[in-house]
Amino acid sequence: MPVSPKMRAMVLNSPGQPLELRRIDIPQPGPGQVLIRVKACGVCRTDLHIIDGELTNPKLPLIPGHEIVGTVVGIGAGVERFGTGDRVGVPWLGYSCGRCRYCQRNQENLCDNPRFTGYTIDGGYAEYTVADQRYCFRVPEEFGDMEAAPLLCAGLIGYRSYRMINKDIKRLGIYGFGAAAHIIAQVAKYEGKSAYAFTKPGDLKTQEFARQLGAVWAGDSTQSPPEQLEAAIILAPVGTLIPQALRMIVKGGSVICGGIHMSDIPSFPYEILWGERVIRSVANLTRQDGEELFKIAPKIPIKTTVQVFPLEAANDALSQLRNGRIEGAAVLKISD
Ligand SMILES: [Zn+2]
Ligand SMILES: [Zn+2]
Repeated sequence: MPVSPKMRAMVLNSPGQPLELRRIDIPQPGPGQVLIRVKACGVCRTDLHIIDGELTNPKLPLIPGHEIVGTVVGIGAGVERFGTGDRVGVPWLGYSCGRCRYCQRNQENLCDNPRFTGYTIDGGYAEYTVADQRYCFRVPEEFGDMEAAPLLCAGLIGYRSYRMINKDIKRLGIYGFGAAAHIIAQVAKYEGKSAYAFTKPGDLKTQEFARQLGAVWAGDSTQSPPEQLEAAIILAPVGTLIPQALRMIVKGGSVICGGIHMSDIPSFPYEILWGERVIRSVANLTRQDGEELFKIAPKIPIKTTVQVFPLEAANDALSQLRNGRIEGAAVLKISD
């Protein structure tokens, strides 16, 4: 392998600390693993939850990052799906056991013994990473490396959330217009739905961004849209949005929570849930979600808006994400 033995990586030594730029050994691919030269890695809100300690028990030290696009530069024993030179995408779900009750009924996203990229196994804030070939995707060639990275989590989780709403509805509310929302707004429009975008009160810039991406209405999360919604997807980690969204949807409608972590949900009167309204969370992804998204993405075609940072500016990218200053998605550009 024409690779030097060391690589640069941004490493989490302990939660609550900024990432540290380190030179560490390039990992070697074990059986069933591919070694990937990372080109791009998206920066996701989940990374913030891990770094802040809201998601507990990460691998430590940890290389975060679970929206990886790169090129296979080495393969371990038994790898047959990919060869050297192939472009691959690595998502959040890095492994599932295949044996638990969830895996056996096509719910590998709920696996009892999972491993998650950039959380319980090392991820993509580094020049190289290894991944289990079975969980890697082929990335459609229509997408550049930077543009493809946000599809690997924002796209996938957004898409899974979107698939949880009733297919026949027309009016969809989207709360929290960040990386995932900017992707599913395009899917919703393509499928003939009207998207209503809700942002932090007063965030006129993001509201304008949502309109550019096809939202028929954009306003503050505290506002009522001109029409009643039939479903809502919540992508901001803010529990108060759940009763707010419930008040906006029709009988039989659902409020889907796409985030992995959320602040507490305040108590609310039963009558806003009454009428067979549903609240449900969406956890992780299945490989099938990915296959579906990557099939539909080039047809739409989804255009991701990315703000690019060098690897060593990962802390800066994270703080801009925290402060709501990223339009679309932040992506680390790690190699050409
Ligand atoms: Zn399992
Ligand atoms: Zn993510």
